[in-house]
Amino acid sequence: MSDFIPLSIPNLSENELDYVIDAIKSGWISTSGGRIAEFEKKLARYLKVDKISAIQSGTAGLHLAMLLADVRNGDEVIVPTLTFIAAVNPVKYVGAEPIFMDCDNYLCLDVVKVAEFCEKECDFIDNQLINRSTKKHIKAIVAVHIFGNMVDMHMLTKLAYKYDLKIIEDATEALGSYYRETGEFAGTIGDFGIYSFNGNKIITTGGGGAITARDSKMVDRAQYLANQAKDDDIAFVHREIGYNYRITNLQAVIGIAQLEQLEKFIAIKEQNYDLYRAAGLNLLNFQGNIRSNKWFYSLVTDRKDELIKSLKENSIQSRPIWKLIHTLEPYKKCQSYKIEKAIEFWEKIVNIPCGIGLVEKDIRRIIGVIA
Ligand SMILES: *Cc1c(COP(=O)(O)O)cnc(C)c1O
Repeated sequence: MSDFIPLSIPNLSENELDYVIDAIKSGWISTSGGRIAEFEKKLARYLKVDKISAIQSGTAGLHLAMLLADVRNGDEVIVPTLTFIAAVNPVKYVGAEPIFMDCDNYLCLDVVKVAEFCEKECDFIDNQLINRSTKKHIKAIVAVHIFGNMVDMHMLTKLAYKYDLKIIEDATEALGSYYRETGEFAGTIGDFGIYSFNGNKIITTGGGGAITARDSKMVDRAQYLANQAKDDDIAFVHREIGYNYRITNLQAVIGIAQLEQLEKFIAIKEQNYDLYRAAGLNLLNFQGNIRSNKWFYSLVTDRKDELIKSLKENSIQSRPIWKLIHTLEPYKKCQSYKIEKAIEFWEKIVNIPCGIGLVEKDIRRIIGVIA
């Protein structure tokens, strides 16, 4: 039996352990401790934003973004169907309803179709985009940057401006991706940007996330809500309902060590992707106008199930892309608009190993099995 090749596992081989030991020795392991602010500062510098708040998860960040975008009970939010469910559930957390959209050739939200939907299926009355079929106010769009690609933010920004919509960028899979021309990073273009440091993401803190916003006052608000909406440390005064969405110092130090490695990780992702491509594997392209973090590789095949099975028999982990959210139990009664491409991709894509730890020998073995 050959060695098991996982889809993607964390690489914690540099300063992670030392920093964790230091944190434990210092006693600062919980939600206070100076290294949280240090992590935030370093992350903000990398992303070229004024401010970012590190929090407990990407999902928590998306929930905070819904609250800050003033999405409420009875509102609607445009979301992609091809994504991880955590991008959609926060719409429901605040009592709103999602409207599901198709994807483009890079698996990201199809902005052309979103524009068509706004144009043909909605009315713009008193600065509010009203869904004609439900009479509800569409307040925001969740733009998920799938697998390291980017939603067409240029077009989306124009559309959001035209219809007064807030853009919530789910950049949980795209930390490090940016537009080559402008240098703008995924997650820093819309009204809100969310990152995740879950174990499977390009960098990890075990679990964790971050939220940034175009208006840095919104980042302060996010931090406030994430910290139980506490106004006063001594008297415990709270003016509103908050959440415990804070990151811990112990997670932050892992984040600092991981951030030191991020560019190296991306270079390895690129190299491995190129090795697969050079062997003739039919991997989906990443967009040419962005420097992608190349987080996940998508193999296009007509024999998905067969391929997953034979990879498994050879101790190689792979997986299909997510079952489309508009077909899942909690969402199947929701509105969806002309979903076509996402169905095609769902039928044909297998994600193959893309971990930082892959060596050329593994890649040759994977290529051999696929061939
Ligand atoms: C991972 C992920 C999330 C959630 O991040 P967590 O930190 O695990 O809560 C949200 N959206 C997408 C697209 C993701 O891949």
